[in-house]
Amino acid sequence: MQVKFSGKIQDGSTPLAWERQGLNGICKAFLHKKYKKCSTCASVFGKMCNFVRLFKRKVKVKGIIKYKGKSKKGKRACINLRGTKSACQSENLKSAIYSMDIQRLLRPNIRRLQPYACARDEFKGEASVFLDANENPYNAPYNRYPDPLQTRLKERIAEVKGVPAANIFLGNGSDEPIDLLYRAFCEPGTDNVAAIEPTYGMYRVCADVNDVEYRPVLLGEGFALSADALLAAADGHTKLAWLCSPNNPTGNSLDPAEVERVLRRFPGITVVDEAYIDFAAGEGFLPRLAEFPRLVVLQTFSKAWGGAAIRLGMAFASEEIVQVLNKIKYPYNVNLLTQRQALRMLEQPGRTRQWVDALLEERARLLAALAAVPCIRRVHPTDANFVLVQVADADAVYRYLTGQGIIVRNRNRVSLCQGGLRITVGTPEEDDALLAALRAW
Ligand code: PMP
Repeated sequence: MQVKFSGKIQDGSTPLAWERQGLNGICKAFLHKKYKKCSTCASVFGKMCNFVRLFKRKVKVKGIIKYKGKSKKGKRACINLRGTKSACQSENLKSAIYSMDIQRLLRPNIRRLQPYACARDEFKGEASVFLDANENPYNAPYNRYPDPLQTRLKERIAEVKGVPAANIFLGNGSDEPIDLLYRAFCEPGTDNVAAIEPTYGMYRVCADVNDVEYRPVLLGEGFALSADALLAAADGHTKLAWLCSPNNPTGNSLDPAEVERVLRRFPGITVVDEAYIDFAAGEGFLPRLAEFPRLVVLQTFSKAWGGAAIRLGMAFASEEIVQVLNKIKYPYNVNLLTQRQALRMLEQPGRTRQWVDALLEERARLLAALAAVPCIRRVHPTDANFVLVQVADADAVYRYLTGQGIIVRNRNRVSLCQGGLRITVGTPEEDDALLAALRAW
């Protein structure tokens, strides 16, 4: 494989020196000081560093085969590097380097994996007699296996979300891609992940199931993300960074500038879980998917779409990450009933918008009313369809509400949430029942 780099020379070295010192010399010559330690910066030179590192370790570099231009500080020069083995088919430098990034991050067994080919994968086209999948010919339409790649559904979601279908993975709730990301990238007993704390509990559960070390990083004042704190918790074995915005259970959105900092600096996969994004003012990171090849955005049909029962989660990512998730998922992970129902729901996006509007209005009313309830010490600001409140004795209030037939989520034992109850925004009648009970406490 041959890759061409061109850019400004940062020191006074000559092509002769590059040849003598090999790739280290080239790196020194082309990389600005600030990029030297960074294997993932967005510059071409950061990518070049990656390429050099990767090829050095994995496929032996033959070296410089050609260079031109004068080696004077500040002058532009161009070099061609050639690896002994083709690591990537792509002609495009950027995607070649990105693609190596993802391949480098994968567990070796997943990189090598030959996926299961189901009957419906092998035949594409029109036919009238299907005797390939050992199905029952009776009881249509439930007798047939569903589309394993949910093509129609993805096309429709692509329209609604403004993201190409090739960048969409669908799973049995968002919990499925959460687990698959561990299985794809984290070597049990060796790799680790970093996550904001507190946050959605399944990131930790899936880490434990997969025997992957989980590194929680406490949020700061106002439950704010500090990119530096998260990055400081990462090391060479950190494969995933878990961010959730708006965050569960705190309700706040993370500062997009800090999220972007993680995306630019963290060399692994950054997951931004946007399960509650429809209730937030910001548009989240989906419109910026193409900018970040190692970004995974999670969304779900369980919240704004009102479809928790059908179990449909969406992971948006680079084509290469989507292909990896498709390769390791169960063949028919989204059943026919779910695919059909989701298509029906997608025919009525206006209905979803109305629900969201009504819930936002109700959220404002509920927040104001909660702030005036004597037993409530604090109502945290929220961008989600729930609110975290603080009371003196959360266990006691929780038990009392349960006795009244009203169930909220007790977050008393969650980091930074002592005394915390998480309350979902319901209908005005449901919320009135909650408010009346709390006032009577
Ligand atoms: N992410 C977050 C942040 C959540 O709070 C939840 C559910 N409570 C999920 C994901 C799971 O969503 P799904 O129903 O799609 O599995």
